[in-house]
Amino acid sequence: IDFGFQHVPREEKETLVGEVFTSVSSSYDVMNDLMSGGMHRVWKDRLVEKLRPRPGQRHLDVAGGTGDVAFRVLDAMRTAQYGSAGSAHGGGSFAAGGAAAAPAAAGEPPAAGGSAAGGAAAGPSQQLPAVTVCDINASMLAEGRRKAEARGIGPESVQWVEGNAEQLPFDSGVFDSYTVAFGIRNVTDRPAALREAHRVLRPGGRLLCLEFSKVVVPGMQQLYDLYSFNVIPQIGRVVAGDAASYQYLVESIRMFPDQESWAGMIEDAGFRGVDYENLTFGVVAIHSGFKL
Ligand code: SAM
Repeated sequence: IDFGFQHVPREEKETLVGEVFTSVSSSYDVMNDLMSGGMHRVWKDRLVEKLRPRPGQRHLDVAGGTGDVAFRVLDAMRTAQYGSAGSAHGGGSFAAGGAAAAPAAAGEPPAAGGSAAGGAAAGPSQQLPAVTVCDINASMLAEGRRKAEARGIGPESVQWVEGNAEQLPFDSGVFDSYTVAFGIRNVTDRPAALREAHRVLRPGGRLLCLEFSKVVVPGMQQLYDLYSFNVIPQIGRVVAGDAASYQYLVESIRMFPDQESWAGMIEDAGFRGVDYENLTFGVVAIHSGFKL
């Protein structure tokens, strides 16, 4: 199997990626902790620290999966408004601008029913909540919704929208910020996804992308390869009963462009002030760019 999906047609790649995430959705959070030794939490915390979301802003987290980044963004907004007591883990509602209403019937996300949300695009007229999670995979979103419900976070604070990063189901210029964490490498047409990110941001809006990257310390690459090609699929086999999906994750990391090439692609999509920060010796990097 070519887990890099380089030689498979586009639709087939999308189907295969879909199968991978449907297969891993229920074990996804546990596996994240096991595979990264908990580091994914530190990396996501840094992403949101860089973002510094403010109350009243509208944030879009693409390929948001089970909501890890979304909950952090909501937490940061609440902390900025109410101090440390206002945590996304503490429940309660929190709407953008303090006045945004739920875009659909209470308790019901706008893309309910698993549609691609194409017809249900949230626009300025529809009042967006503080945070919007958009993901192509219904199982991952369902897991996220379950977590949100358990934390008492309603659709007036976080909405869950099924949609493709390459063709976002939102109007232009409606978001203040856009994040994508460990998601862009799964997207088939990355330039299209970047153009879409640019389109849905307002002028002055910011893109932040957290993704596996190229290790910058000599000698560490071999160690990292040894770990990712041998240990990760084994953890996948034992814990999730699914070595193949985790093998895919490792292969897709290997195929992703290095820091400079990815920064160039972000610029090509129209972003300005593009830079990046390496974390953990370049195991991951956070790229940043602004729509001017
Ligand atoms: N951002 C989450 C996190 O950091 O925990 C989830 C990351 S998970 C590794 C990758 C996610 O990308 C999956 O939920 C998958 O469904 C989603 N995805 C893959 N291709 C996509 C696409 N074209 N558009 C939107 N989401 C996509």
